[in-house]
Amino acid sequence: MGVNDGVVEVPASDPTSTMSQEKEYDCMDCGACCRCFPIFATEDDVVLEPQIKEKGIRVENFLRTDRVAYRMHPLPFLDACAFLKEDKLCRIYETRPEVCRKFEPGSDQCIEARQRLGIG
Ligand code: SF4
Ligand code: SF4
Repeated sequence: MGVNDGVVEVPASDPTSTMSQEKEYDCMDCGACCRCFPIFATEDDVVLEPQIKEKGIRVENFLRTDRVAYRMHPLPFLDACAFLKEDKLCRIYETRPEVCRKFEPGSDQCIEARQRLGIG
């Protein structure tokens, strides 16, 4: 999420074709995943990036799990992750939460996020 570039192989539209077409997913001018989904950081993420504690919203005790401790997308006041900059890049890219590190350009969720925001 944020600034990785992804190049994935997607099936050609003709299912009988043996060819595949390559589609590029450019995170540099996107940030759709950082705007579409509720994103949660863990306590381990906070150790790596203490700003999450300040900018995120602490999840109520009864809802907290090992994977859910801080909400990065503090609705209703912001419509994107608190760390997404106006240039669509991640302010804490080097120390972003694990869930963001695992998010893959070209994944089904990536494509869904882009489609929701009309990026295609
Ligand atoms: S939606 Fe996909 S292309 Fe866009 S920033 Fe996220 S991972 Fe990158
Ligand atoms: S921490 Fe960075 S990569 Fe993760 S959702 Fe926020 S802006 Fe996107």
